[in-house]
Amino acid sequence: MQTWDELKEVCLACRKCRLAETRTNVVFGDGNPASPILFIGEGPGEQEDLSGIPFVGRAGKLLDSMLGTIGLDRGKVYIANIVKCRPPQNRDPLPDEQEACIPYLRAQTALIRPKIIVCLGRIAAMKIISPDFHISQDHGKWFDRKGVRMMALYHPAALLRDPRRKTETLPDLLAIEEELQKLETPAEA
Ligand code: SF4
Repeated sequence: MQTWDELKEVCLACRKCRLAETRTNVVFGDGNPASPILFIGEGPGEQEDLSGIPFVGRAGKLLDSMLGTIGLDRGKVYIANIVKCRPPQNRDPLPDEQEACIPYLRAQTALIRPKIIVCLGRIAAMKIISPDFHISQDHGKWFDRKGVRMMALYHPAALLRDPRRKTETLPDLLAIEEELQKLETPAEA
């Protein structure tokens, strides 16, 4: 298995799909790779492309605030995307682009070995949890895959577009906090 640094080096030089032609930076990820919780978005936007860091624009600031609500910050989580390069005009990443890029996320996940995965938005949830995931119905529900607890939240950009959904997101965040607390205090056998 590649080390984290080897994986990052290969990813930063990647030209496997057409998104390489229009990107400024490859956005590998941010946070603590030793964290038990991995957040996954769909792909970088303009600010992320310019900085090389995921979730740094307005949606990123909201994500930081959402993490803060449950006592988390970027030193306590890892944040990555399905595609590491920005789709032009922030369109959804196309299926072949997702397929080209997903091995990097899989390799990151294998190295991080998270206990909890939180998908941010519909695209990530459809790729990671289930192709027929409906974010408006299924956000906040737990799914179990190979011993990993998985959930999806509304994407922070969707919450900026429709702030009423923030009310629905708070219980989801609290459920994540509860799950993290369970990891810290495992049930007695
Ligand atoms: S989106 Fe992923 S697969 Fe495509 S060029 Fe960027 S790193 Fe490579």
